[in-house]
Formats: sequence, structure tokens, C-alpha cells
Amino acid sequence: MSDCLFCKICEGKIPAAITYRDDEVLAFKDVNPKAPFHQLVIPIRHVASLATADEKDAALLGKLMLVGARLARESGLADGGFRVVMNAGADAGQSVLHVHLHVLAGRPLAWPPG
Ligand code: AMP
Repeated sequence: MSDCLFCKICEGKIPAAITYRDDEVLAFKDVNPKAPFHQLVIPIRHVASLATADEKDAALLGKLMLVGARLARESGLADGGFRVVMNAGADAGQSVLHVHLHVLAGRPLAWPPG
């Protein structure tokens, strides 16, 4: 989508600290990290929100999780623990309408989240 921030990152029109890329998925460091390790894993195909995703997105959504876990593992953070979060909708704090999985690690993460 032409006016989508994360589509522009996928297209290289906006710079990002990219950590992983394949044909379906892109990962990059969050510009405003909430933990020592905070990366976003997104589908290259525009999917607006988990709230409106459907069956055709199932494999892609699952892949975001597996890539996120791999990034944590490869950074040596999987043993200590990491958290994946996908905000969906305004009340959950979704500010970018392109599905993104937050991967957070590197400090104790409180539960429940705010
Ligand atoms: P959410 O609030 O769940 O929609 O998360 C959006 C995330 O995108 C926030 O954590 C932002 O810090 C992050 N973000 C926004 N713009 C950029 C950018 N240009 N590069 C990297 N991360 C970004």
C-alpha cells in the first residue's frame, strides 16, 4: 500500500535496521525500543491487522512467530526468555496498520502488560 509506513520500509523507501529478509517476511529493529532487544517482524505483503486477517494469512502469521523466535535464539536470548506481542486495534495500541510482531528480550518483562 502506497501510504503504509511498513510497506515503504519493505520497498526500501524508508531506511530501517534490517535484521532478516526473505520472500515473505522482513525483520528490523524497532526505532523506539522498549527493551534491550526489540525487533519487529512483518509480512512483506500488506496485511493491515490481526483483527482483520483471515485463513489465507494463517501460514504467514505463523511464519512471523517462527522468524521472531529464530532472531531471539540467534541473539542468544531464547534461553533467558523473550516475548512476542502483536497489538491489534486502537485499544491494544496498534499505531501502524501493517501487521507486525514485536519481539522483546534482554530484561525481565513484567506480566500482565499495561
Ligand atoms: P504498534 O504500536 O504495536 O503499532 O507498534 C508500532 C511500532 O513501530 C512501535 O514500537 C514504533 O516504535 C515502531 N516504529 C514506528 N516507525 C518505525 C520505523 N520507521 N522504524 C522502526 N520502527 C518503527
